[in-house]
Amino acid sequence: MPSPTRSPILDAAPRALDPLAVREDFPILSRSVGGQPLVYLDSAATSQKPRQVIDAEVSFLTRENAAVHRGAHTLAAEATELFEDARATVAGFVGAQPEQLVWTSGATAGLNLVAYAIGNATLGRGAPASARFALAPGDEIVVTEIEHHANLIPWQELAARTGAVLRHIPVREDGTIDLDAAASVISDRTRIVAFTHVSNVLGIVNPVVELVALARSAGAITLLDACQSAPHLPLDLPGLGVDIAVFSGHKMLGPYGIGGLYGRREVLEALPPFLTGGSMITTVSLDSAEYLPPPQRFEAGTQPVSQAIALAAAVRYLDAVGMDAVHAHERMLERRLREGLRQIEGVRVLGDPATRSGAPTVDRVGLAAFDVAGVHAHDVGQLLDSRGIAVRVGHHCAAPLHRRFGLTASVRASTALYTTNDEVDLFLDALSGVRAFFG
Ligand code: PLP
Repeated sequence: MPSPTRSPILDAAPRALDPLAVREDFPILSRSVGGQPLVYLDSAATSQKPRQVIDAEVSFLTRENAAVHRGAHTLAAEATELFEDARATVAGFVGAQPEQLVWTSGATAGLNLVAYAIGNATLGRGAPASARFALAPGDEIVVTEIEHHANLIPWQELAARTGAVLRHIPVREDGTIDLDAAASVISDRTRIVAFTHVSNVLGIVNPVVELVALARSAGAITLLDACQSAPHLPLDLPGLGVDIAVFSGHKMLGPYGIGGLYGRREVLEALPPFLTGGSMITTVSLDSAEYLPPPQRFEAGTQPVSQAIALAAAVRYLDAVGMDAVHAHERMLERRLREGLRQIEGVRVLGDPATRSGAPTVDRVGLAAFDVAGVHAHDVGQLLDSRGIAVRVGHHCAAPLHRRFGLTASVRASTALYTTNDEVDLFLDALSGVRAFFG
């Protein structure tokens, strides 16, 4: 195992998060943009990476690089051990066992893997147990109105291929999922309920346990998009009761090109593969092949080895800081951000609880998407960039949700464990001058 780069964070394992100490570990955060210190408020798009993650990937490529699970040489054995250690570390981070974690190239790949595997089950491919996933015309797949396109389009495609019907659970004006509506949308025709843990636009933590209960009582399988929760909250996927969940390495301090797919054992065992080829078989003849058990059955081809090792370094970093501390810090930033945005004339925050009296208090991660009356989101983004402030503009791959709020685009500011109060204040200060600037 590569020895983690020494840092006050890893040495002290503090429980209260000091963002200034954390920042010492993120080289990019000390750079400037256009002559001004970088204020990075785009962590929901991709997080920055600490030295420990960069070093872990470089160290592996420098010292142990070899293809895993093959080869009789020392490097191959060392690489395999590091790769499988990484699986155990990342699985443990989400409360799972190593064999319940499939490496993917990212959340989009994980969601497509499941949709295509279910399509294969529908075609009668796979073991007899996979018949439970087969869809018939008229069966229903349920998503929510707030999904990222990655958790929408694969289901549109699967519905088109199988004759299933795609339905959605609406979102209220305050950004919460309407559980009464969910109870009427989910029925005994529902076979799959796919929803996000935390929306990348609203930041609200959705009622996973309640949605899983509704899906279970209808006999449907559940799929959770945990992309925006894994970097920000303590996560116990088996405890949430979901059948399958996906997350993305690059959003949780890890490198690009790696993600995780968690599955309940019996679900992974019954699901046919999506991609086929090397690394996922036991015996092969010219006519047929037998497949390895999960997780390898879903990992055709050469594995993302250095990326997995670096992702393990990322979750070790998050664990050392403490996910409770990360969540508490980001909650504090989120309140500051949201309160500040409410004070700026002409700014409307998407899914603001203030829009519904009696709205329940919801848990959130540190992000807010908003519209500035009379100013296009791209213009807001450019003006902020001229001050060194990086935000995301557009529909954030959630066009239907924007349409729900009568918009085609918004501006999103998103935080992470390294974001400071001062950065939020600099952003709010710059934003308060935007409408006057565009006159
Ligand atoms: N789901 C959500 C909620 C996201 O925010 C994103 C990325 O923006 C994705 C899925 C896609 O993740 P990936 O980049 O790993 O494919």
